[in-house]
Amino acid sequence: MVEKYLLLTPGPLTTSETVKKAMDFDYCTWDDDYKKITQSFRHSLLEVAKVSSDEYTAVPIQGSGTYGVESVISSTVSADDKLLIGINGAYGKRISEMADIYGIDHVDLVVDERAPITLELVKEYLDKYPDITHFAMIHCETTTGIINPIDEIIPYVSAHGIVTIVDAMSSFGGVPINVKEDKIDYLISSSNKCIQGVPGFSFVIARKTVLEATKGLARTLSLDLYDQYAEMERNNGKWRFTSPTHVVHAFYEALKELKEEGGVEARHQRYVNNQKHLATGMEELGFKVLIDEKYQSPIITSFIYPTAEFDFNEFYHELKGDGFVIYPGKISQVPTFRIGNIGEVYDEDITKLLIAIKEIMK
Ligand SMILES: *Cc1c(COP(=O)(O)O)cnc(C)c1O
Repeated sequence: MVEKYLLLTPGPLTTSETVKKAMDFDYCTWDDDYKKITQSFRHSLLEVAKVSSDEYTAVPIQGSGTYGVESVISSTVSADDKLLIGINGAYGKRISEMADIYGIDHVDLVVDERAPITLELVKEYLDKYPDITHFAMIHCETTTGIINPIDEIIPYVSAHGIVTIVDAMSSFGGVPINVKEDKIDYLISSSNKCIQGVPGFSFVIARKTVLEATKGLARTLSLDLYDQYAEMERNNGKWRFTSPTHVVHAFYEALKELKEEGGVEARHQRYVNNQKHLATGMEELGFKVLIDEKYQSPIITSFIYPTAEFDFNEFYHELKGDGFVIYPGKISQVPTFRIGNIGEVYDEDITKLLIAIKEIMK
């Protein structure tokens, strides 16, 4: 058995005891009761997104978050389309890799990982490439913890008749997003991020008219988003293939707990408080935050190594011994490490973490 610790990573994250307990039964995947749970959580996801079932649908896809993104890219963008991708981190790059694999014509708008994607840049690219049909970007780039201004960019792009895809993996449920007002056609997230469930599936909140026009475009069977949607609609919530039954029950419980906490706004406030406490406490201990406060998300924070001699591996293991697991950095320009503050993480946990770090840095 491993020693228990608090996960300060941006998903998987620390879940509540009740979410874990919801997995303590072997559920059937084809049963009517199970299908009802699926239909219910699909509906709850639309409530979290504040959209109506007349206009939007929520479609789960088995696998981690990347499977959901790949499902959208591989089964809703055709060989005749052209995809513009806003990239300021590893997750934006990942979409570009997918486009390469599927032979999708794409233009990469690449920005320094420490800076946000801006409307000005997007405008420039759309002027330069008038044949763009689809646009994809990341909301919270978990690579650094930066928030990209989807509320400024997506409505502009959508007004040009372009289909919009937002990877809101690490923000949906923890940061308010105006899916409808912002004109998002596909929003992707997963079970193990701000909804605070366990890993096992991703989900796509899709504008129905847009999704329904993609029938037959899929390049793979298992990641066919339209087909998964059609099957769930036809068969009252039946997944096409074996679904992660335990994960689904944990997710159903997690959605209930999100509501009990006061919804996305309340959860967002807790995350904001956690992040502020963490960032100020760390700065007092001599660690500099990588991202400008204006663009810093309340999800995960990148800290620059305090000295050239700083040994992350040693730091990581000492912290783990104290009951906290953190993340290495993911960018090349500056040596950093990351600390997430989402999940069942409260102010007192941040206090304890800062005390442990202070002790280690002595
Ligand atoms: C977590 C995450 C993903 C998906 O990663 P998986 O490891 O496949 O779950 C995609 N995009 C962003 C922004 C993420 O934070």
